[in-house]
Amino acid sequence: MNRRQWMALSASTFAAGRRAAAAEQAPQGAQGGNAGRPLQDAALPLERYEPRSMLHVPETHVPRSRFPVIDFHTHITFAAGGGNPAAIRFSMDPANCLAVMDRKNIRTMVNVTGGYGAGLRDAIGKLQTALTGRFIVFTEPTWTRASDAGYSKFQADQIEDAHQAGAKGLKVLKTLGLFLREQGSQKLVRIDDPRFDLMWEAVGSLKMPVAIHTSDPEAFFLPIDRFNERWEELHAHPDWSFHGKDFPGNRELQEARRNVMRRHPRTQFVCLHVANAEDLPYVSECLDSHPNMNVDIAARIGELGRQPRTARKFFDRYQDRIVFGTDASAGTSTPQQTFGGALYEIYYRFLETEDEYFDYAPAPIPPQGRWRICGLGLSEQVLRKVYGENAARLIGLPA
Ligand SMILES: [Zn+2]
Repeated sequence: MNRRQWMALSASTFAAGRRAAAAEQAPQGAQGGNAGRPLQDAALPLERYEPRSMLHVPETHVPRSRFPVIDFHTHITFAAGGGNPAAIRFSMDPANCLAVMDRKNIRTMVNVTGGYGAGLRDAIGKLQTALTGRFIVFTEPTWTRASDAGYSKFQADQIEDAHQAGAKGLKVLKTLGLFLREQGSQKLVRIDDPRFDLMWEAVGSLKMPVAIHTSDPEAFFLPIDRFNERWEELHAHPDWSFHGKDFPGNRELQEARRNVMRRHPRTQFVCLHVANAEDLPYVSECLDSHPNMNVDIAARIGELGRQPRTARKFFDRYQDRIVFGTDASAGTSTPQQTFGGALYEIYYRFLETEDEYFDYAPAPIPPQGRWRICGLGLSEQVLRKVYGENAARLIGLPA
């Protein structure tokens, strides 16, 4: 049953249900035959708790975005793993993507994880070339070679090669900073390690923006205890925790990325997931000091929408540097990233309406944390820019 159906049903049954619940909670003796009966769900497990909002507030359905969308952050292809590091696999069929795109007013999807070499050419051929204007493909660094002698030059050449093949940007996963280690010592490689300087310069001179994911929600760096606001999410994905090992802290990772943006002012960076969505004052400070910094909103409307007044000011102030993204793919266990019409409708509702207290993901239990969000009701001018114009400028597409 969807929320709307439930609301309709609740209108007729809610009053009766409330009377029954009141009877159940009545003091002993008050109900005659029911005296002494234990509360039915006294030990309700958290994962089974699905409270439904009783607020009577507007529910706006936004089936299509007000302006054409460029989804700057999607994963249609992934590295395939296995023996050939360049091989990619498709997480979804481009024809199915197109059907959703047409229904939801999505002009273009940017497939950021296009890989490199033969895999990149495969992705470009089946997406960007076969369906011109509808798909854009980015390349990725060859992390497996990062400890090799001569890597800097090799990687810069790889960027040239990817550009010639048609790649429009570079994607850097959070691998850099959190997983990539030196081959011998197993030391984590720093985000601002000088071995990448030639790569950052190469993409800058080729006008390829860098889509860079650094660090993760702050709660992922804290103990998974009863104070952790993402306890359920971390409980479901314990491997997402960066607490108690040799990982740098969130701020240290963010500052290392700032060093890179500072050193490469001609290169445009799009810091994914609002850079650090829980700390908009810090992100604002970064945007103010680095004119080559931009952000996307992928998989962070749950953070933005629970601080709607701060977020609205943030969008107004940085309206030329925020791009629309979802982090969508298929076959994922995370509903906040599952490609489909339901996901886009939530994003549109968040950006366009002033609806209050609604779900940020198509899921019965909020998957990133037990809160709900409020819409921003952005102006037409800001919507135009965030939905498509800013991304078009960064990628070099017609407005
Ligand atoms: Zn992503």
